[in-house]
Amino acid sequence: MDGSHFPRRTARDAAELVDAGVLDPARKAEIDRVAQRYAVAVTPAILDAIDPAAPHDPMARQFVPSAAELATTPEERADPIGDAPHTPVKGITHRYPDRVLLKPTHACAVYCRFCFRREMVGPGGEALSPAELETALDYIRARPQIWEVILTGGDPLILSPRRLREIVAALDAIDHLGVIRIHTRVPVADPARITDDLVNALRADKAVYVALHANHPREFTEAARAACRRIVDAGIPMLSQSVLLKGVNDDPQTLEALLRTFVRNRIKPYYLHHADLAPGTSHFRTSIAEGQALMKNLRGRVSGLCQPTYILDIPGGHGKVPVGPSYLHRDGTVEDPWGGRHEYE
Ligand code: SF4
Repeated sequence: MDGSHFPRRTARDAAELVDAGVLDPARKAEIDRVAQRYAVAVTPAILDAIDPAAPHDPMARQFVPSAAELATTPEERADPIGDAPHTPVKGITHRYPDRVLLKPTHACAVYCRFCFRREMVGPGGEALSPAELETALDYIRARPQIWEVILTGGDPLILSPRRLREIVAALDAIDHLGVIRIHTRVPVADPARITDDLVNALRADKAVYVALHANHPREFTEAARAACRRIVDAGIPMLSQSVLLKGVNDDPQTLEALLRTFVRNRIKPYYLHHADLAPGTSHFRTSIAEGQALMKNLRGRVSGLCQPTYILDIPGGHGKVPVGPSYLHRDGTVEDPWGGRHEYE
């Protein structure tokens, strides 16, 4: 983009998006209305990756608000995956016996326009106070069946290295935990935050995994690739999480390029999420049949290393299930990666 009006700071409202050159001034009034309802933040790294000349730029689509967000469809809900009924203490979501979510902050580096927690996240969102964090840790300490803690939010990697070090150390000291997993968009959204100090703060005796949320290969700028390298080189394995998004990655070529990009950067594709029923996001949702067709298309073209699991988080808090295509048919045949059918006794 034209660097002449590039602000080198995060754009947090319609006026700043106009100043940054990624929003047509004629759309400012409608985007002001969206910004009153949902948080807005587009970091310099993402502003830089947006092509304002492209009418349907997949980077802009993910981060620059659109008036379509003001339309909520009847099936959409404020808490699409049912976090609230599974929140025993503030900051903890406990849905499955052996793992919990721990949400130390509700703020993010960027606010994705399709976010499944868009009613909860935002700059004014509540971070856990030290006392609340201690209560959340006590909840984990008191339950030996909890084996894995997933730090999420918000985005935990916007916390200072000092704060992260304290949280990771507290979790590392809990005997019955085996795994600390960190869900983040920061390595692509704000790669400058991934300093050696921050990476060192994540080191623990327990297994630490970083799951990166990225949806389009163009999110992997040179700085983003370097940030991922810093994490992996520290011995911290990375996994991917992506959301299947109409107009962003719902075509075979983009999806293939995204998955190959993850693997080339030593990030194992983990989940491809079917888009949740978050309010004002119907313009992003594909059908499950479309998602299955995309997964089928990938099967014959990319290696198993590049294959994510296509997953649906059942609305209402009933958990995640794989919803990918089946290759076993009722007539007793099995389908090969190119569509041929074969008898299998
Ligand atoms: S980074 Fe994650 S939690 Fe934050 S807005 Fe994006 S999808 Fe939502």
